[in-house]
Amino acid sequence: MTSRRSRRKKTTAPRPEVSPEEHKPLEHTGTDAAEIQSRKIIANCLEPEETRVAIIEDGRLSELYVERMWERQKAGEIYKARVESVLPGIHAAFVNLGDGRNAFLYLNDAGGLDLQPNQEILVQVTKTARKNKGARVTSRISLPGRYAVLVPHGRESGVSKRITDDHERKRLKGIARKLRGEDYGIILRTASEGADEEALAHDVETLLALWRDIEHHEKIQSAPCLLYRDLGLLGRVLRDELTRSVCEIIVDGEEEYANVTGCLSALCPGPLPEVTLYRGTNPLFEFYGIEKEIDAALERKVWLPSGAYLVIDYTEALTVIDVNTGKFVGKTDLRHTVLDTNLEAAGEIARQLRLRAIGGIVVIDFIDMDHSEDREKLLERLEEVFLTDRYRARVFGVSRLGLVEITRKRARPDIRTTLTRSCPFCGGTGMVYREDTISMTIKRFLRKVSGANKSEALLLETNPVVASYIRETYLSLWEEELGRRIFLAAVPDFPWSKYRLDAQGELGQIERRIEQIEKWEAPLVVYRTASS
Ligand SMILES: [Zn+2]
Repeated sequence: MTSRRSRRKKTTAPRPEVSPEEHKPLEHTGTDAAEIQSRKIIANCLEPEETRVAIIEDGRLSELYVERMWERQKAGEIYKARVESVLPGIHAAFVNLGDGRNAFLYLNDAGGLDLQPNQEILVQVTKTARKNKGARVTSRISLPGRYAVLVPHGRESGVSKRITDDHERKRLKGIARKLRGEDYGIILRTASEGADEEALAHDVETLLALWRDIEHHEKIQSAPCLLYRDLGLLGRVLRDELTRSVCEIIVDGEEEYANVTGCLSALCPGPLPEVTLYRGTNPLFEFYGIEKEIDAALERKVWLPSGAYLVIDYTEALTVIDVNTGKFVGKTDLRHTVLDTNLEAAGEIARQLRLRAIGGIVVIDFIDMDHSEDREKLLERLEEVFLTDRYRARVFGVSRLGLVEITRKRARPDIRTTLTRSCPFCGGTGMVYREDTISMTIKRFLRKVSGANKSEALLLETNPVVASYIRETYLSLWEEELGRRIFLAAVPDFPWSKYRLDAQGELGQIERRIEQIEKWEAPLVVYRTASS
């Protein structure tokens, strides 16, 4: 019991975000360790509408980032602007950013400057331009890095409010005070939680070099002009990922290729990865088999090499993962088969959570284990496989029934939300009414309609599958029972459970209507009983 308690405590402590190589190997009896041999970044930037960045670990997709054109972050751009006009009545000024674009600057955001027309001023975009609104800018500049935000001309040092652990806040506040300079302040972001001082210092150095570069260009360029632009999706991924070892970066766009080679040494503390420009005729993600892996990452079922499988279900509040032995029969006795399956599943679950970007609460239903030592082994494995997870995952014990609760930081929308929408036919439930059920709903409707008048025939529109099912199964019975002719028009674009009474009246009338439909509304088919 003591060992479990101490272990549980370990998992709730902040986990340092370091590269896997820096971890001391864990003593465990399992098979393969969670060490990653090779990491590649493959960026599909060819289409201006969408950028996709894949992180490949040991030949398999481990993370996917997608950015669409309209999500592209333009806030953060820094301009050397020229004041066009000052509007004292509303305490604001219009500044010219170049290319005929004006931006709005509140005098409150002008850092106490007494603005005059034609004056040159350094500004940063805080809100991008929308349809009828110009961009909003401030003269308070800030440059975000992986761990820190550099605030030029400031003197403050601070720590993100989202870091709540008192001890950690104190440590980081101390570091922030040390890292700030004579003419710049430092704010440590949430990502700095658990990071060591060296990594934080390196981040600040990088930002400072960037700032000095911007200052240099401010001096030599004339207003209005753009001095700095956010790195874009690929840049942000590189900024975060290059703190760990990456052996190759493959890009399919020439412009991005030039950007990457240009900023690499600034972003990369260690040995520089190889950068390749992909020029193949096969689309990049297809060539590397990434498209297939993306499709698989949206599936409910995940097969493991042993023949066992996982089933991943999403609910409003949590994600549920069910572990099944499937085709795995094991080599020895049942107890070992169960343990081996659970251990194998643990590794794959850690991978799936990263790949699918699943955050929040995750409940895993492992196969029941009777022996407490086995549950201990599983817990050990879980902690080990989550060590390399950047989005701090916490494991909370293994229950007697094999249930494990995990929490994982939710840092971005999951892959499902990014790539899919709910099904318009079933409303996302994955379920539609059975043909029997719809048939009976329709029959009750027909009875109601028939009860209201004495028409000879009626024409009903339904989905084609439902129409054909009713014709095969019920149509002649219904005609007899309700005492009238029933015609079914199969409407191809009708949703599954939709039906509509098209016409009712004398038989001749309805037949003329059907003739018309079959002539003019083909390929619409009208089903009827054999007697007609
Ligand atoms: Zn559906």
